Amino acid sequence: MPSSGPFGVLLDIDGVLYVGDEPIKGAHEAFSELRELSAGVRLVTNTTSRSRRDVFEHLATLGFDVTLDEVLTPAAMAVRHCRERGYGSVSVLVSERLREDLASLEPVAPGQPADAVVLGDLGEGFTAEVLNGAFRLLMDGAELVALQHNRYWRRTDGLALDVGAYSAALEYASGQEAVVVGKPAEEFFLAAMADMGLERAVMVGDDAEADVGGAMTAGLPGVLVRTGKYREDAVMARVTPTAIVDSIGDVPSLLARILPE
Ligand SMILES: [Mg+2]
Repeated sequence: MPSSGPFGVLLDIDGVLYVGDEPIKGAHEAFSELRELSAGVRLVTNTTSRSRRDVFEHLATLGFDVTLDEVLTPAAMAVRHCRERGYGSVSVLVSERLREDLASLEPVAPGQPADAVVLGDLGEGFTAEVLNGAFRLLMDGAELVALQHNRYWRRTDGLALDVGAYSAALEYASGQEAVVVGKPAEEFFLAAMADMGLERAVMVGDDAEADVGGAMTAGLPGVLVRTGKYREDAVMARVTPTAIVDSIGDVPSLLARILPE
């Protein structure tokens, strides 16, 4: 990454701007400030339970001034990956609300082999039968494409298993390593910067591995916020962030230090 020049800001959404229907205190002001200070903003979410349009509309409902184009999700990256590989039939295991973002992929016919299994979050739909179906396709040669590899996320009622946990089960059984298209994949961060037309950016997130670790691997400074799913033990064990702050409210004043002119 160049050491000077215009920079963009990549923001994780859930746990950084809001938790559920509750905006994080000070997030609106900080978001406006970051817009002013930077040359571009992208909202980079790993969500697998909402479509890009749903995410955009939720942000707008909670008073964040964003456009649909500024929201980037792993589903778009999965479509890109399957197209690049020339996959003709794909088993898409994603929530109903995410289907519109993957509608351009050809669904596998029942009982037929698939080129890939695209794994999102089925929530309660992750039954033994569904997981077995995916497992059999993998054993017959399908590639496992995980929308993301998060271990868990914070729902309003508490922590819950995320796609990574189910993906890990399928990896373990099939002996195949998943291709991860969302965070922490380096390509996801590079695509977000390319989308802004910028070569410098900072990433802000509440997930030490997916947000901060992933960004740092891609050569970006990674700022961890102590909101959302933040847990001290998770940080110290695996990632050393560029900075750790109480919330997004502290990020504007931090920029001059971590992204010098
Ligand atoms: Mg988050």
